[in-house]
Amino acid sequence: MTLIPQLIFALILAFGIGFFVRNVKKLSRNIKLGKEINRTDRPGERWRNMALIALGQQKMVVRPIAGLLHIIVYIGFVIINIEVLEIVIDGLFGTHRVFAFMGGLYDVLIGSFEILAFLVVVSVVIFWIRRNIIRLQRFIKPEMKGWPKNDANIILYFEVVLMFLFLLMNATDLQLQSLGAAHYTEAGAFPVSQYLLPLVDGMSQSALFLVERTAWWLHIVGILIFLNYLYYSKHLHILLAFPNTWFAKLQPKGQLDNLEAVTKEVQLMMDPNADPFAAPAEDEVEGEPGKFGASDVMDLNRVQLLNAYTCTECGRCTSECPANQTGKKLSPRKIMMDTRDRLEEVGKNIDANNGVFKEDGKQLLDDYITREELWACTSCNACVEACPVSIDPLSIIMDMRRYLVMEQSAAPVELNNMMSNIENNGAPWPFNQMDRLNWKDE
Ligand code: SF4
Ligand code: SF4
Repeated sequence: MTLIPQLIFALILAFGIGFFVRNVKKLSRNIKLGKEINRTDRPGERWRNMALIALGQQKMVVRPIAGLLHIIVYIGFVIINIEVLEIVIDGLFGTHRVFAFMGGLYDVLIGSFEILAFLVVVSVVIFWIRRNIIRLQRFIKPEMKGWPKNDANIILYFEVVLMFLFLLMNATDLQLQSLGAAHYTEAGAFPVSQYLLPLVDGMSQSALFLVERTAWWLHIVGILIFLNYLYYSKHLHILLAFPNTWFAKLQPKGQLDNLEAVTKEVQLMMDPNADPFAAPAEDEVEGEPGKFGASDVMDLNRVQLLNAYTCTECGRCTSECPANQTGKKLSPRKIMMDTRDRLEEVGKNIDANNGVFKEDGKQLLDDYITREELWACTSCNACVEACPVSIDPLSIIMDMRRYLVMEQSAAPVELNNMMSNIENNGAPWPFNQMDRLNWKDE
């Protein structure tokens, strides 16, 4: 038997996996551009969250229709890909249906893969109708125009084509088995693909062989292309949902993190025994003070950047956002999409300049996310609660506001007045503390 198909298969496989590894390295490099953050506390709770939210799809079913359909596609995607293992072994060693020795179990496996493939196609068609015919509000917001819309549809088309190729491959295989063709030993159950037989009925053995091999090759090449498409797509969430839910914040949602430098400063102010003129301790390194808040992606932490890559652009956050619902410009989904776009831009800049970022005169603030969007946020946390993969758009908004307030003194006038009142009067109102009880005399 000629080894050429096996060699071609090995080359395609190596190229597909090699390109994927290259993109994973790029992804990791980009995420590491963010600041380090320690999110390894309470590991038991983190594993539990990952199992329930990423693997168990716990938050998806809050919206039952979309949740159920998503679970079907997800299970189908994971389980049918077990079959890819057989394809890879067959491709590398020139065998055919190498797991057929399992007998009855093999029949059950192939039969269940087929039923799942059918359910995946049905779910994907419903998803497509919801996006393109019913046009659900959250799928037609301004940030979903152009590439994000096309990306969502490309993923759906990919899934249908892959499932169809899988079923066509099985239908022709079944026909070849029934004709007693060489190498096509009777194996597998075909509860769905048997209905495709009329498509191949009457074909000669050589034509059937050609269709079967074409579907087989296109199926595996399609899977490798899809694998590599992930990096450029919102579909990256099928991999990143796992680390993202693991590293998610465990503190109560409303608890904001304090800046260490400011906390120290305040503690010093409040400590009656502290000497404000004391020289710094020997082990205290006095460097340039760090930037307060974030104006660009490098100022965000690594979990926030991981969040940006994990966003599925589902829009559940935006549909729950009170600011968005009342017609404000803010969309928490857009905050995540902008962060990812800017991060990608920075990554490409580094690639083009031999591994060093060359100042490009742009930043996340103003060039991607406007101040109007940032100040429209009520900090209600509804977006964080709604996100099915534990993304925290509010933390990015807060860090960017922090930059505006602490580095640029650029808070809105009303907020500045309130903050000066708190500083001077101990209350947000413009009245002297001494006048607080005046009301009793009125
Ligand atoms: S926290 Fe801000 S962005 Fe998130 S839902 Fe509330 S208002 Fe919208
Ligand atoms: S942040 Fe979460 S809820 Fe919002 S679009 Fe992304 S994945 Fe969906």
